[in-house]
Amino acid sequence: MGDCVFCKIVSKEIPSEFLYEDQICVIFNDINPKAETHLLIVPKKHIPTIIDMEEGDEKIIGHLVSCAKKMGEKLNLPGYTLQINVGEKGGQEVFHVHVHMMANFA
Ligand code: AMP
Ligand code: ZN
Repeated sequence: MGDCVFCKIVSKEIPSEFLYEDQICVIFNDINPKAETHLLIVPKKHIPTIIDMEEGDEKIIGHLVSCAKKMGEKLNLPGYTLQINVGEKGGQEVFHVHVHMMANFA
């Protein structure tokens, strides 16, 4: 947890511009965007991977999806991809759960 980059962003130890923040999550731009819009929806609680979810965490994960919906409306996105990479074998690089929200609308 101490070395977790997303915990440091959440706690503002690493400066980052939040597009959205509430008691449960923050949303910021991916540093290496793979789409025209590429946001990361990140819970404030340090949950390393979906595999590590504990009782009650489903509320947090559901909240992330609900925030994606709100952000899609705010940004007027006609559609988008939500992606969660799970574990090293699932392509996860940052071990603090996050939802990728990606959209191309050229
Ligand atoms: P994943 O492979 O699902 O763990 O994705 C991690 C994502 O975090 C990648 O798309 C990275 O570009 C992104 N990322 C890593 N460090 C930062 C950072 N400091 N600020 C914003 N995005 C980051
Ligand atoms: Zn963390």
